[in-house]
Amino acid sequence: MRPVRELVRLLLPVACPCGAPDVRWCARCAALLDGPPVRVERGAPRLDRLDGVAAVPVWALTPYSGPVRDVVVHWKDRGRADLDRLLAPALHRAARRLGPAFHDALGDTPLAVVPVPSTGAARRARGREPVSVLARAVVDGLRDAGSAARFVPALARRGAARDQVGLGARARGRNLAGAVRMTRRGARALGQRSACILVDDVLTTGATLAAVERALERAGHDVLGATVLAATPPPADDAPAARHGRSDIDGKLVRT
Ligand SMILES: [Zn+2]
Repeated sequence: MRPVRELVRLLLPVACPCGAPDVRWCARCAALLDGPPVRVERGAPRLDRLDGVAAVPVWALTPYSGPVRDVVVHWKDRGRADLDRLLAPALHRAARRLGPAFHDALGDTPLAVVPVPSTGAARRARGREPVSVLARAVVDGLRDAGSAARFVPALARRGAARDQVGLGARARGRNLAGAVRMTRRGARALGQRSACILVDDVLTTGATLAAVERALERAGHDVLGATVLAATPPPADDAPAARHGRSDIDGKLVRT
């Protein structure tokens, strides 16, 4: 007779999103998310502000490619909410590593950790906001590092953003900029002027992050940086080190 465990596996097969059988996630995929967080904003063309201010610093744990892409897609859109337990601790560790610099620079000034909002359609399809799970993990990591951090889901997407298809890069940026708004509850929670850290799952062109940054700055808040799980490598650059940004985590608050 088969052991019960084996029967259960036949009924409810588990596999890592990369295909490795019999585990919810495999050691290889977990190792890709071990960090350390590195600066990646230079690979995101849409973070350029055109106003002389350098792009907001963004830290990522890993390039968005290969099995990491599978993990994120299954987590967000294929019902693998159980991967929270892989991804949230990864960003928790990253925030704990980044926390001391924020604490040195800001002292006991509270940090508002703001998740990048998903579109209403995506939220309805998923039945939840996966990025909020990451943002709460960042709050916990920053607190472990001595910062007074709090979770502030301050923003929402406007429903009627134009379809991006057929728009040039700059028009896409404008389209998205108008597509993020502060919620009334978010405005209350942030108060007059808050220091904000943004959290998202993946950095691609940076257009969404830039729109979020602008929405917060328009309301008088300071965006100090952003953390993401993974960043799309710039296509034209083959050097692995350059592809995934600088490996140092010095000068964390300096926009370079
Ligand atoms: Zn795997």
